[in-house]
Amino acid sequence: MINVSKIKKGIVLDHIEHGTGHLLYKALKLDEVDDPIVLMQNINSSSMGKKDLIKIETDFDLDFTVLGLIAPHTTVNFIEDGVRVKKLRMELPEKVEGIMKCKNPRCISNIEKVETHSFTLANPDTKEYKCEYCDSLTTYME
Ligand SMILES: [Zn+2]
Repeated sequence: MINVSKIKKGIVLDHIEHGTGHLLYKALKLDEVDDPIVLMQNINSSSMGKKDLIKIETDFDLDFTVLGLIAPHTTVNFIEDGVRVKKLRMELPEKVEGIMKCKNPRCISNIEKVETHSFTLANPDTKEYKCEYCDSLTTYME
């Protein structure tokens, strides 16, 4: 096991499905953060076999919708003064607004400009969401 020093303050994203850590890294725009960030991949996990983990050593405004969409089993640990002060378990968001596009080319949302396009969770297993306009199923990660 790699030894990474404990962080004093920040966020630790634990139990990320292995192989999705780098996708999260991009989607959460962690590449734009100036503070230390550690992405660990393929860590052995008793509950998951293998997992990814991200440590963000700063105050960071997490996009929980994106996080939930990409890695719904993530545990979010908030660290202050070296101790965990809060823990959150992610899940797939029931409703997603503004960040998904309908994949039906004939959908009104792809023809006209729509205000806030919302999608409702249709199938948690396949992470499929239903378009509010045409009922087509779309996933966030194509
Ligand atoms: Zn649609």
